[in-house]
Amino acid sequence: MKALTILGARPQFIKASPVSRALKAEGIDEVIVHTGQHFDENMSKIFFDEMGIPEPHYNLEVHGLGHGAMTGRMLEKIESVLLKEKPDVVIVYGDTNSTIAGALAAKKLHIKVAHIEAGLRSFNMKMPEEINRILTDRISDFLFCPTTTALENLKKEGFENIDCKITNSGDVMYDAFLQFSDIAQEKSTILSDQKLSDRKYILCTVHRQENTDDKQRFGEIVRTLNTVAEEATIVFPVHPRTQQLLGTYSLHKNIRIIPPVGYLDMVSLINHSMLVMTDSGGLQKEAFFARKYCITLREETEWVELVNGGFNKTVGLTIMIF
Ligand code: UDP
Repeated sequence: MKALTILGARPQFIKASPVSRALKAEGIDEVIVHTGQHFDENMSKIFFDEMGIPEPHYNLEVHGLGHGAMTGRMLEKIESVLLKEKPDVVIVYGDTNSTIAGALAAKKLHIKVAHIEAGLRSFNMKMPEEINRILTDRISDFLFCPTTTALENLKKEGFENIDCKITNSGDVMYDAFLQFSDIAQEKSTILSDQKLSDRKYILCTVHRQENTDDKQRFGEIVRTLNTVAEEATIVFPVHPRTQQLLGTYSLHKNIRIIPPVGYLDMVSLINHSMLVMTDSGGLQKEAFFARKYCITLREETEWVELVNGGFNKTVGLTIMIF
């Protein structure tokens, strides 16, 4: 049995870590294809090194392009790899352009597609991620849902009438978080490097296109962070997309902008924070895993159970001062 895994973006490396380990334990050969979507050392290589993910067999080096060109080039390059490797199944993760390109290339070659993190919905069709995940789900043969809500979403969309297998597999990001929390506690030096004390700072990330593409919206987020920073230190590992934008604003001295960090440092930052403010999908869940309250800088979330359970609040543009 041969599986071919498509990876491209930071959250996919994190999700792949426990799955690659499980494939190996089952004696399944895995070929890893990195599309190149995220390529900086601290957005890509550090995760492979720290999390024991096997070195990619192929790097397609597709990045820095608009959605159409990026997805198109990935599709073409993935297809040639699939023709050569002839895997039994292609594994795709989440909701990026690498996800839909991998699923589509495989499906057209009649190769089975397994989608990990299937069934998530924000019901906001303006999000590129929502388009990618809906289309990927529709052409997948094996849909691995992280939550009951995701499973129910698929049922409501009629997936029970489609020839596919749906499994409530649980969340592989939880597996990663459990595995690496102790290791982070032992190895990460980010707290001492940044001179941070336990539960004395807010951890913040912002990178969703819906927040960064809209100047007014991004300005509102910065204004809010500046107000919050009057009361508490904010640690902000900044995504490359956000870095350029932030340069045009003046930020409160309590906002600490740092480059993107590896997973061990990130887990340590989450576990020792006072609370989390983010528009990241993955970080919302990790805040919950670490028992931290999360303020979500979006109108809606795919992780509705966190909001319903009182662990998370979506604030959108009516940004709050608490
Ligand atoms: N993350 C990280 N370093 C950072 C910022 C985020 O390791 O500097 C991790 C974070 O803990 C989570 C994942 O990256 O596991 C989330 O990725 P991202 O926010 O880029 O994507 P999303 O989850 O929104 O798709």
